Parts: sequence; C-alpha cells; structure tokens
Amino acid sequence: MFQRNELIDQKNLVEGFAPLSQGVLDTMQSLQCRAVLICLLIFPTHLCFGASPLDRLAEAVRFKTVSSQNSAEIDYEAFQGLNEFLARTYPRTFDQLEVEYINTHSILLRWLGSDPEQNPVLFTAHTDVVPIEIGTEGDWQHPPFAGVIENNTLYGRGTLDDKQGVISLLEATETLLEEGFKPRRTLVFGFGHDEEIGGENGAAALAERMRELNLSFDWMVDEGGFVVSNTPLLPGRDLAMINVAEKGYVTLTLSTEAPGGHSSSPASTGAIGTLARALDRIESNPFDPKLVEPMRSALAMMSPEMSQPERFLFNNLWLFDRLIAGQMAKDSITQPMVRTTTALTMFNAGVKENVIPQRAEAKVNFRLLPGDTVEELIATITDIVDDPTVNISNDRWSDRPGVADANGDGFAVISAATSAVYPDALIIPSLLQATTDTRHYVNLAKDQYRFHGNSVTTEQARSVHGTNEYISRDSFNNAISVARGMVKGAGKGR
Ligand SMILES: [Zn+2]
Repeated sequence: MFQRNELIDQKNLVEGFAPLSQGVLDTMQSLQCRAVLICLLIFPTHLCFGASPLDRLAEAVRFKTVSSQNSAEIDYEAFQGLNEFLARTYPRTFDQLEVEYINTHSILLRWLGSDPEQNPVLFTAHTDVVPIEIGTEGDWQHPPFAGVIENNTLYGRGTLDDKQGVISLLEATETLLEEGFKPRRTLVFGFGHDEEIGGENGAAALAERMRELNLSFDWMVDEGGFVVSNTPLLPGRDLAMINVAEKGYVTLTLSTEAPGGHSSSPASTGAIGTLARALDRIESNPFDPKLVEPMRSALAMMSPEMSQPERFLFNNLWLFDRLIAGQMAKDSITQPMVRTTTALTMFNAGVKENVIPQRAEAKVNFRLLPGDTVEELIATITDIVDDPTVNISNDRWSDRPGVADANGDGFAVISAATSAVYPDALIIPSLLQATTDTRHYVNLAKDQYRFHGNSVTTEQARSVHGTNEYISRDSFNNAISVARGMVKGAGKGR
C-alpha cells in the first residue's frame, strides 16, 4: 500500500520532482479512489486509507496513546495498536533493521552501517501524547483523536508533538531502504512511549539498552526545534531553530505548619497566610535577565538581518547585552530565552471551610538557563522567602545536557538537510525552553540537538499541549524531506 499510493504526495517532496499539471493530478486522484475501493475489498480498512504520508500520520493520531500521571489511566492497548500499525505500515524498516521493543512499548531500531570504525548517530522521538484538558474538547475544530484532514491540514493531538517526529523518520527510512541506501555508519532510532511523564520507562530504558549494546553516538537529534515564522525576534524571516541546549527543570516544594483549629477562634496568622506571603515574595522577585549561550550566538547571527538601531546593538553584545536581555524579558515569548523562569503551579491547604489547616504546601516550577545550578536556585529562593518557618525542598531534577557544538558535524548535517528544503530560512543555534527525552541520553551522545523539519507559525507552536494542534500537508512533507536529508547525511558518515 505504501508505494502504490505515494504519487500525490511525492509531488510535494522537495527533492527535485517537477510540479504536475492539474489534469494529471485529477486523473491520479480518481485512480487513487479506485485503488482504495479495490483495496477495501481485499484488505482491512486501515491499510486502504493509509494513502499518503499525511494519511499515515492521521492514522497514528487515532491511537489514543495518552500519557497520564496516573498510570492506571494509561491505555496500553492503544500503544500496542500504534506499534502494530507502524510495523505493518513500514515493512522494510521493520524487516531490515534490528528491532527491539523495550518495556514492551518503546521501540529501538538499529540500521547497521558498513563501517564499524564510525560512531553511530541517534534519532529519537516519542509516541505518547498529553491528555486533552477536561472541558476543552469542544474547542477543537475537529475531535483531537479523529485524525481529520481538512483543506490539506491534519488536526489532532500529536500532529506536532510528537507523532510527526516518529512518522517522518519512519517515512524517511522506508523510502531510503526502498531506494537501496546503505549507511556507512550505524543509525539508531529510539522511540520512547512516556516522554510526557518523564521518560523513565521509555527513553531511560532505551538508553540503558543502548549502554548494554556499547553504543556511543557522535551526535543525536531529538524533538524540540522547528522552522518558525513570525518570531518577534526576526518577523520578516523564517528561523530554523536548531536547539543546541535546553533549559533545566526543577520543582521546589514549599510547606509550612501551624496549630490550626476551629475557624471561630483563629490565630493572627495561619499556614495559608504564611505560605501565600512567601509565594508572593517569590513571584515578585523574578530572576535577573541575562544573555547566555546559545542565545548570544543566535542573536549575533541574526544581526545582519536586522535594521538599525537593532543591528548596531546586536553587533555589540559585549556592550549592550544587559540592555537587550532587559528588553527581551519584557516580551512573554522572548522572556524565557533570557531568564530562569518562575511558575507557581500548585497550592494545597485546607479540608473544610470552618477548619484552619495545620499544613499548607505549594509547588513552584523553575526552568533554569544554561549555567544556572539547582544549588544556586535553592539558595536564592531561601533568601527571598526569608522565613525559617517555611520549609523548602527540591522534588526532582535530572542531568541536563550541556550546550552542543554549533560548529559540529551533527549541526552541519542538520543544517544542510534543512537548507535544502528551506533555502530562505535563517538557521540559528537555539535554546529549547521545555525539556525533552534528550536528558536521558546525556552520557551516550557527544552532541545533542533538537529539531524537526516542519514549519510552524509562532501562534501554531502554542497549540503544542493546547487546543487545535495541527500540521499542514506541505509542512509535514517538508519534515519528511528534512528527515531524509538528516538520515542520509548522518549515514554517509564522516
Ligand atoms: Zn514532545
């Protein structure tokens, strides 16, 4: 099914196909309809509608592989169903590569290279998605798991984060195998199934298995960056943001205890008031903005594209970095790029309206700039709270990848694959504000990059984890072309 109905989409793959005339397209479309009808008589439905890459992504979206904090709510049959669909839909990949399922649902694929002297390269993505916030289902233009394509746009949870990552890599491997491509160095693909809840059973276990296999990667590429239009930094030009670093993730728990008792005879202060005042101090004292790598390099690279006076300022970061960081901190989109952010996320106290609680607890989530440490964070917050009755402890944090080399072999391969598809985009090294599974591979890969080759608008990027997540056909086809370029470029070796 895979090759036969590939025709329509191949015209969109930016790899030298001449545009087809409308007449030819119409004929092909009617042939495709007939092919689907014949197919339906012979095969199960799902095989017959997997007609184009976007249709296959739509099918993947229909499996409700939702990661829930409460593991009892996770539908593992959906994960099983998705994995069976992938194996069936990409038969060359699953026949010719070494395939292992880790913790049943995560997928490890190894495409063995011809030159054992070369270090392998790792490509990662994840098959799970976040839930739909209760009460927002009706806000979607199409139901989030229906996989509806309307006007060449596919709507659904996972269309950006991150089923498109999995499917674009599999589309790339399948077509490269079909063309007889043979990598010189080994290419490894790791698809985790629980990225959205920390990756402990997925990416962490995949990494463990990779260590057992003695795999050590020259570089890896995970989800995280896109080709973005309309950024406030450079509105007139598409930016291919290849993330070379990501922010750290730390949650602090603050708690306080007080006598409590009957609400008819309250003390002058209670647990809720004490904790609320501490939280107010934290919120009113954000971390100072500053320009660190990779943002410094990114801004310097953008400066020739800017008009005066910005060009002058960005060209002289040694003098104006504090001024620029201060300006960027005023914009909600650029703010996270220049500071360790503070978000008050949970507050729990009280069980009944006429009972004064004996304990109040809150959680504050911080995203650290490269270079800022957890120890410094705790010391700063303890100073700001300045109240010994408030207990501060850290919930969790994990190894953070360092800043990858923006002049390295991996960056060059990703850049070449991207500029072949987006000749007008400006490629910059960038800082990912969220966290990814990448951190589980910290000690396995020398350089870690995060990038997918689809294009999004700044507004569309906000639909990740939100409402109306979507991807257009052109954007997805571009992602596949970039994935092919990356896989091929990596496979050629050094
Ligand atoms: Zn993701």
